[in-house]
Formats: sequence, structure tokens, C-alpha cells
Amino acid sequence: MNPIGKIVIVGGGTAGWMTAATLAKLLQRKVQIELVESEQIGTVGVGEATIPQIRLFNATLGLDEDEFIRRTQGTFKLGIEFVDWTRLGHAYHHAFGPVGGRDLGLVQFYQYWIKQQLGPGIDEIGAFTFNAIAARQNRFMRPAQVQNSPLASIAYAFHFDAGLYARFLREYSEALGVVRTEGLVKHTVLRAEDGFIDSVILDDDRRISGDLYIDCSGFRGLLIEQALQTGYHDWRHWLPCDRALAVPCESAGELLPYTRSTAREAGWQWRIPLQHRIGNGYVYCSEHLSEDEAAAKLLANLDGPAQADPRPLRFVTGMRKRFWNRNCVAIGLSSGFMEPLESTSIHFIQSSISKLVSLFPDRDFSQSSIDEYNRQVQFEFERSRDFLILHYKATERDDTAFWRHCAAMDIPDSLRDKIELFEASGRIFREHEELFTEASWLQVLLGQGVLPRAYHPMVDTLSQSEMEQMLNGVRGVLERSAAAVPKHADFIAKFCQAAPLRAA
Ligand SMILES: Cc1cc2nc3c(=O)[nH]c(=O)nc-3n(C[C@H](O)[C@H](O)[C@H](O)COP(=O)(O)OP(=O)(O)OC[C@H]3O[C@@H](n4cnc5c(N)ncnc54)[C@H](O)[C@@H]3O)c2cc1C
Repeated sequence: MNPIGKIVIVGGGTAGWMTAATLAKLLQRKVQIELVESEQIGTVGVGEATIPQIRLFNATLGLDEDEFIRRTQGTFKLGIEFVDWTRLGHAYHHAFGPVGGRDLGLVQFYQYWIKQQLGPGIDEIGAFTFNAIAARQNRFMRPAQVQNSPLASIAYAFHFDAGLYARFLREYSEALGVVRTEGLVKHTVLRAEDGFIDSVILDDDRRISGDLYIDCSGFRGLLIEQALQTGYHDWRHWLPCDRALAVPCESAGELLPYTRSTAREAGWQWRIPLQHRIGNGYVYCSEHLSEDEAAAKLLANLDGPAQADPRPLRFVTGMRKRFWNRNCVAIGLSSGFMEPLESTSIHFIQSSISKLVSLFPDRDFSQSSIDEYNRQVQFEFERSRDFLILHYKATERDDTAFWRHCAAMDIPDSLRDKIELFEASGRIFREHEELFTEASWLQVLLGQGVLPRAYHPMVDTLSQSEMEQMLNGVRGVLERSAAAVPKHADFIAKFCQAAPLRAA
């Protein structure tokens, strides 16, 4: 063994501090960790909605959830509401957790829903999804220890203030021995013999060196791209949005336990409710909309007064050709970015950290471990990419050139196969460790108007009246259970109300 003695993390955004916190917790001061960041550059400052896997991350760090919520002005998230995506005036929920009741034998609950939908008709699948029902009523609680109840399987994630989150994780990491260095990296020195990173040089000529480098420098990909020239797969032909404007506004109305995504003329607008404000942004395609038009539309569609001017962000959807190159691993926006539609980026950070831990190198940097890491991360990126493309592709909207482009665009074969299988037979299969489950694909396929022509033949073992009784029974249980859940704002007030923020 030739163990790693020191890790250098370049970047102190969400990616940098999540990585520092996890490695510090797991390595127990046996390996030095130094994080370099530059206040002059700052962080991207967005990234405030998550998916339920983040709870595993918090558990790894041993965080107290209520304290974490209080410190980050956080709220709870049961899923995402998609408004105007399928057609104007339409809305559906992509809710976390299961759809319907328990599966009967090997046949999933939703197969019965499909049969009823193809026959006499039935309410949309959200009426049979616990999280969607609770979300519509602005209710939230954590799972209860009640057997055979929908209350036992409530799946949830968080919304939080990105700046407060990074600060929170910084404190955590520094307490575990991570050394933070303020400074601007000007230059990366490569070893002549093998092209590995030797050190980074700051603008005041300080030199920082280590064995393993983690590039968390954001879109610029300071090490992975600018120094190692790893290359990038550009996905703008599938995910055409390339700009965003972000603006916070004052809180207004009831505290929603979900993110809202509203399709607009050339992209979509997010609404993320926090305890102290609402985060908003317009993600759009610059070929179809100017920044001024996007800003006007965004500001005209806020629920409360804006607290700042809209902040512009630019990106190219896609992923790095390799995420781990030589002794450098790119985590966060430096590894790629799809766009925030399904709140996947923070999850990819977490997932990359966990893959890095499982393939943690020594100073020999085995190429087969590096290849395996790259294979696993690529698979996760590509399958999630397909899920995002589905939202754009499967639309009935033809009211703007942007939506006509999306409806007509070519899509990856892997996504086409999935849609065709579902249309032909109502079947969905989750491949390997693909991030999104059958329940997620189902809700978005149906929500976007993709309807199957057939259902699973074994559904016919129940007579029509038995089936209707079962469907009504499930719906009744879900509705009665949701009615027992407190309002989201009351839950927060009771367990994790944040103190008002003091001016910085
Ligand atoms: C519009 C938009 C909305 C998003 N919404 C979501 C969401 O809802 N959910 C989600 O999961 N994700 C979302 N994301 C993604 C999320 O914001 C990022 O994944 C997350 O913030 C991590 O960013 P990062 O740490 O990789 O980069 P950054 O926040 O950009 O941090 C980069 C760090 O590198 C440092 N740095 C850069 N260059 C140098 C240098 N030369 N010297 C020293 N330091 C340097 C900077 O100072 C900074 O500390 C969104 C992204 C965008 C663009």
C-alpha cells in the first residue's frame, strides 16, 4: 500500500464543502485535507432543492435534521409540481415515494390504474399517490411507525439556502480538521513524467500540493478541464436551455412542501419555498429568448416583492468525458450539468463522493478503479439525462418555437425504447442503479401525456367490480391518511423553526 497522505479540494461551493465534510468524517484526520476557495470568485449561489437521497448524506455525517433545517432556513419537499408542461392550464406532481397501494402479487398497482383509465376512465395518478395528495394540501410530517399505513413510507427531501448550507458544512468540516485556505488559484503545475497534477499555485505565489486533487471549482473546471483538458460531451441538442436568471423574493402565501416548476415560453421557472424567502429562477434557451425578456417575465411572475436584481448564469448542458482523470476527480458543476429541472445536481455530488469513497485510491492510482468510477458516474448521468429530456420531448405545447423545437427534436435511443415500451405495454423497468425509480418515470410519463395502449394481462384476474373496489379503497386510505398530517408550516414551527437571519 502507498496511501494518500493529502487531499487538495479546489472550490468551496456546495460540492467542495460536501466533499470536505464527508472525507473528513470518514478519514478521521488520518489524511490531511486542504480546501482552497476564493471569495473574489464566490459560488454559483443557487442549488436549493434536493431529492430524498440527501437524507442518507446527512445520516453519513451524523447531522441532526432539525438543527440542519434551522441553520439553513430549510423546508421539506414532497416532490415537484409541473405546471403548463404538458399543455397550458395543466399541472401534475412528480411526488417522491410510492404510487398507489401495495402491489398485488407481482403486478404493480399502476397496472390496475391503466386498465381503468383505458376503460371507463379514472382520476389522474396523483389522486392515488400519497405525497401528491399531501402536497396539494400543504401538509407534511416525517414517516410514522405505523404498520401498513401510507404514513410509514413518506419520502421527503429538503429545500435550503445554498449559502447557509455551505457555511454549515464548512463549520462541520473545519471542526474535523479540514484546513481552509483563502486564495485564488492562478496556475496548475503538471508532472512532466505522467501529466498528473503536482500542485496549484495561488495568485500570491503560494504553492499547494497533495496526492489526490478534487476539482470543485464549478463550471470553469479549473483542474479537470483547464489543466487536464479532459473534454466535454455537449447535450444542448437534447437539453437546449443554456441560461438562467435567479432572484429571491419575499415569502407569500402558505408554505408549500414542494418545488414548483412552471413551463414558460422558452424554458421554465422554478419556485423554491424557504423559511425566510422564496427562491425563483427562469431557466431558458438563449436562442429563443433574450435576457431582458427573461428578466421581465421572471419579475412579473413572483409571488412576493423581489429582494434583488435577477442574477444571470450561463451553462452548457452535458458532462465531462471523464470525471476522474489521473489524480484529479471532478465533483459538482466541474463534472457536468444537466439543468436543475429534477434537482439532481446536489445528488450527483453526493453520489460521486460515495463512489469515490468506495473506489478510494492509493498513490498508485489504479487505472481499472478510475475506469470503473467513470463508468458508474457516466451511467448515472446518462440515465438521468434521459429522464429530463422526457419532460421537454413529451409535450403537446406548440405555442412557441421553443416548444415546437422540443417536441420535434431527436432523442437518445435509450429514452425512445423506454417510451415505446411504456406506450405499447404500460411496462417500466429500472435499469441497474439508475437514479429515478419506476414510480418517478410513471408519474412523469403520464403527467406529460404519454399513455399506454395496454395493461398487464394478469390484471384481469380481478373482475371489473373487484378492481374498482380495490382502487376506491386505496384512494380512501390515502386521503384519510393525508388528512391526519399537519400543515407544513405548523410542522416546521413545532420542530425546526429558524431564527430570523441577522443582516451580514
Ligand atoms: C440555475 C441553476 C439552478 C440550480 N438549482 C439546483 C437545484 O435546485 N438543486 C440541485 O441539486 N442543484 C441545483 N443546481 C446545481 C447546484 O447549484 C450545484 O450543483 C452546486 O451549487 C454545486 O456547485 P459547485 O460547488 O460545483 O460550484 P460553485 O458553487 O460555483 O463553487 C465553485 C467554487 O470554486 C471556487 N473557485 C473557482 N475558481 C477558483 C479559483 N481560480 N481559485 C480558487 N477558488 C476558485 C469558487 O470560489 C467556489 O468556492 C443549480 C444550478 C444552476 C446553474
